[in-house]
Amino acid sequence: MNNQDSRLPEPFDSFVVGSLPRPKWVMEVVESRKRGDISDKNFQSILDSAVPFAITLQEKAGLNYITDGEWRRESYVKVFSDSVDGFKNDLIGVGTVNQNSHTTNMYPAVVNKIKQIKSIALNEAKFTMRHSFGGSKLLVTLPSAYTIGRRMWDEKFSSKTYPDRAEFIEDCVPIIRKEIFDLIDAGFLNIQLDDPWLALLVDPEYRKREKISDIDKEIELSVRSTNKIIKDFDSVFFSVHLCHAHYNRLHGSEGPYDLISDAFAQLNVDRIAIELASPVAGGLNILKMFPSDKILGMGVVDHTSRDIEKSDSIVSKVEDAINYLGTDKITLNPDCGFAPSSSNPMDLDEAYLKLKELSFASVYLKNKYL
Ligand SMILES: [Zn+2]
Repeated sequence: MNNQDSRLPEPFDSFVVGSLPRPKWVMEVVESRKRGDISDKNFQSILDSAVPFAITLQEKAGLNYITDGEWRRESYVKVFSDSVDGFKNDLIGVGTVNQNSHTTNMYPAVVNKIKQIKSIALNEAKFTMRHSFGGSKLLVTLPSAYTIGRRMWDEKFSSKTYPDRAEFIEDCVPIIRKEIFDLIDAGFLNIQLDDPWLALLVDPEYRKREKISDIDKEIELSVRSTNKIIKDFDSVFFSVHLCHAHYNRLHGSEGPYDLISDAFAQLNVDRIAIELASPVAGGLNILKMFPSDKILGMGVVDHTSRDIEKSDSIVSKVEDAINYLGTDKITLNPDCGFAPSSSNPMDLDEAYLKLKELSFASVYLKNKYL
């Protein structure tokens, strides 16, 4: 990527995917807000003292692209229903995660026409900018319209207002576009849309549970809505993150990405971040189908394993990927965010050590190849 577009990352840049595990006391404060024991104002003021820790941790780990750890979000997707009117809490069971990893978290369902009532990610991004030292770039994460649609539309609760899931997804698009417009206006130009529910489609068990028979229709829904969201925002570096979902160190689905590989080419984003460290993702073969005009966000750290993989082992995996893609198009990230929902019981120190090894690998690869 010599003479590259200045919007884009450098080869081998290191990224987080989004979330970091919360300390126990932060998890408790998130629960207190949910129960209504503390006001949102109090919640935000308490988190104002916690989030700088998550920001500094990532800077100290040496990452090129950081977030706020998503510590203010009950989950990566509920951040949408927390900012938009039209949802009723705790109507939908989890249902998609392996039985062993079952969480008691319930999800809201859309029950009325949706209308945005506050910023989704802008305030978080502004806070992160104010509390970072400036050596890392800021990545802003938002859930995709497709993932919101699959997670929070339910025939029983939602069909009176939105007879079809696709209509609800369609209504999410302008709200996310408006948020991106506001982010651009405030100078935030690195944006990631999280669309794990597109990747979940690869698992036949998941499709059975969700009664999905037409994968192509689902892929089209996801691709079309994401492309609508990002259309004409030419100044932004867009990523999409696609993973198998996880809770309590177990994945919510299994299988290689082959079945959704057409979407890789069809999504008009700059970078696609996928899981490649976990055995459930099927290995590097998928890179044969990886589009030549996209940057790979290579999952090089298995967030579900307790092992802290050393940087030389990470380097060796990336060098295997170089055999497929060359040295210009690879960036490094963990397979997924470490705790996409606040209750996900993961270890913060372990995440830090993993991110540090990832950053070491990134620096080594840059010195060797660039
Ligand atoms: Zn993920």
